Amino acid sequence: MFTILLLFITVVGVVIWLFQVRFIHPIYRQTKFDEMQFSESVIASVLNNDKELETTVNNCAVEYHNDIWVFTVVNERATPIVEANGSGKSNKSFFLYRFPSIYDAALENGGSYMAVIRTEPNYENDHAEIVSDNMGDPSKIPQVGYQNGVFIAVSVSIHDVGGVRYAVMQISDLMPFSAMVKTLNNQFLWLGVIFLILVLLLAELLSRFITRPFVQMNRAAKELAEGRYDVEFSGHGYREINELADTLNYAAAELSRSDALQKELISNVSHDLRTPLTMIKGYSEVMRDIPGENTPENVQVIIDETERLSELVNDMLDLSRIQAGMQKPRFEAFSLTETVRDTMTRYEKLTMQDGYRILFDADGDATVYADRGMILQVIYNLINNAIHYTGEERLVTVKQSVTEERVRISVTDTGEGIAPDEIPLIWDRYYRVDRVHKRAVVGTGLGLSIVKGILEMHHAAYGVDSAQGHGSTFWFELGRVSEIQDGIEEVKGTL
Ligand code: ADP
Repeated sequence: MFTILLLFITVVGVVIWLFQVRFIHPIYRQTKFDEMQFSESVIASVLNNDKELETTVNNCAVEYHNDIWVFTVVNERATPIVEANGSGKSNKSFFLYRFPSIYDAALENGGSYMAVIRTEPNYENDHAEIVSDNMGDPSKIPQVGYQNGVFIAVSVSIHDVGGVRYAVMQISDLMPFSAMVKTLNNQFLWLGVIFLILVLLLAELLSRFITRPFVQMNRAAKELAEGRYDVEFSGHGYREINELADTLNYAAAELSRSDALQKELISNVSHDLRTPLTMIKGYSEVMRDIPGENTPENVQVIIDETERLSELVNDMLDLSRIQAGMQKPRFEAFSLTETVRDTMTRYEKLTMQDGYRILFDADGDATVYADRGMILQVIYNLINNAIHYTGEERLVTVKQSVTEERVRISVTDTGEGIAPDEIPLIWDRYYRVDRVHKRAVVGTGLGLSIVKGILEMHHAAYGVDSAQGHGSTFWFELGRVSEIQDGIEEVKGTL
């Protein structure tokens, strides 16, 4: 940053210096000669007009601070007819004395001549020397320094108008620049030093606001990569850096959360797998070693535990497929009411054996457009949970309520309910209200995560209403299909 700033300032400084100091001579001289040529052409246009000639010569002299003479030349004798002094200096005799030689040079040069002359200050000693001779073309004037003496631009032009020969002579002082250039050079040196200090200060300031926060953030990001999730990203800079810091802090928090979840997942999975395996191993060994223990009850324990294992593995596979987005819903139109009713029949044995009452209350027939297998799994998981967590009454109510556009399925139990602060968490995988794994309470901790995954895939609304001590109602809503024509399904609601 320091280098770029320094480079920038240097380039700006050099460009200013070139125009202000280095090129000031040629630019100034060119301007002077242009002015002289212009006033010469203006005067030449009124040479045969006595009245206007005087005013024009005066105006030009005043405008450009020049001394101007107009001569008529008869038989090589020049007689001044108009003269004007705009330079404010009395140098008449000096130039009148030199006019003939300059006139000759103009004659030789095809009618016009320009030159730069150097004299002593105040024309002392009557000394003059031509330092540059342009032969009529000001752009060809060689570069001359302005170190010593006084420099004067002189031009003579010859015009033949109406049989009369006129000569116009102009004298213009050239400003002595040497002192000014010296001063400017000096100034530029000081400016350079001041700019250098400013650049240093600015670079420090900018680095404080821009570079340093980035360096700090980079360090923190490396720590994060090494697994230190408690790093703090702080912006201490302008808005964008602060926003970046916030985003990185958020990313760190999310990474930490997912890391914690992953650790928990591994510990839960291993726990859940180990418990049934220990049971199976234990029972099998007992049956092998102790005669008379090979009873149907013991075999049943092994079968139950095997079932639990396969349920767990299936749930884990389902969830991972849903979360990885591998399992895409295969949409079809089907009767949701019939699907729920079918599911009920599967619980009949349970109802008969254990005295559970599972009621289904449907207000009509609702067709939806969804993945039937997935919705079946949602209903299953919700009813299973309701059966597991329902109270002494052993009552579970499934209710279907339809509006014109939507159908809502709710599963209500009469269990203990869920504490309000737990409600948002139960949808997380492996979350269980009672964190201590109780063998009595079956379940994998994955059921509701699967429900959530499936319903979100269907863009369906879902939720739970629960009052502690009074049971819970889990519900979801799907859009209804109002009509099916020639295999083209029109879906209402969210789908
Ligand atoms: P689990 O296999 O443990 O039931 P779920 O993901 O299905 O896992 O449920 C997560 C947690 O939500 C359960 O452990 C339980 O604490 C709570 N929960 C789920 N359904 C109910 C319900 N009907 N009544 C009370 N608590 C419930």
